[in-house]
Amino acid sequence: MLRWLRKLRSLPAIPDAAWQATLNRYPFLAERPPADVERLRLLAAEFLRDKEFHGAHGFAITDEVALSIAAQAVLPLLHLPGGLNWYDDFVGVVVHPAEVVAPRSVIDEAGVVHEYEEVVAGEAMEHGPVMLSWQDVLASGVTSDEGYNVVIHEFAHKIDLRDGAADGCPPLPPGFDGSDGARGAREAWMSVMEQAYEAFREKTIMAERFGAEAPWLDDYGAQSISEFFAVACEAYFVNRAQFAQEEPALLRLFDEFFLKQRAA
Ligand SMILES: [Zn+2]
Repeated sequence: MLRWLRKLRSLPAIPDAAWQATLNRYPFLAERPPADVERLRLLAAEFLRDKEFHGAHGFAITDEVALSIAAQAVLPLLHLPGGLNWYDDFVGVVVHPAEVVAPRSVIDEAGVVHEYEEVVAGEAMEHGPVMLSWQDVLASGVTSDEGYNVVIHEFAHKIDLRDGAADGCPPLPPGFDGSDGARGAREAWMSVMEQAYEAFREKTIMAERFGAEAPWLDDYGAQSISEFFAVACEAYFVNRAQFAQEEPALLRLFDEFFLKQRAA
C-alpha cells in the first residue's frame, strides 16, 4: 500500500497508469487544457507528499483513494498564487467508507441545548483534518452534471477559512478586482457574494414553500453564506458551462480570484 508514495519524501512521481485512471474517473479534470492537467498532477504529488491519510472504521487507504482525493483537492489551487500553502493549516485527511452520522448541538435564544444528528459526506474546520466519505468521493465522477463534488466543497471551506472566518470570503489581495486596498477588496467580494446568496436563498424558499422551480445549485448552500461559497465552488470547478448560466456574476468573481490572480 502506498509504496510509491513512501519511497521518497521528495516529490513522489505519480505513475502514468494511476494518473490516467484518475483522469478517466473524473472527466472534469481530464477536460482541462493539457498544461493545466500537467500542473494538477504536480500539485497532486505535492499534496500526497505533505498530507497524511487515515482510514476510519477499518477503511483501507489505497493508492487509488489517496490519488482520487489529492487530484480533486488541488483543483481550486491550479492558478492560485501560493499553491499548496493554502492547505498548510492541517495535515490529516480522514476517509470514511460512507456518509457519517455526526452528533450536533445548538443552543437556542432561551439557552436550551438541542441535540440532533446530521448525515454528512464531508467536514472541514480550521486547523483540523478534512473528513470525507469515500462513497461520495467516488460518486463525484458522475455527479458533475448537478455540480456536486464533496472534495471541492470541503477544500473550498479550507480556502474560505484561511483568514480564520467562515464567511464566504477567502483572503484577497489588496486591490482585488480593481478595488481600493484591503478593505475595498473585501467589500467588492462581499457585495457580489451577498447579492448572489440572497437571490439563491429567495429561490430556495420559493421552491420549498410554494413549489417554484428549485435552483440548480445544491440547496444546502442556503444554510449560510460560507456553505453557499462552498457549494458554488463545487459547481464552478466541475460544471463551468452550467454555472455560467446560473450564476454569471459569481463566475466573473471566481474567475478573478481562482484564475486571474498574479503572483506578487
Ligand atoms: Zn460545507
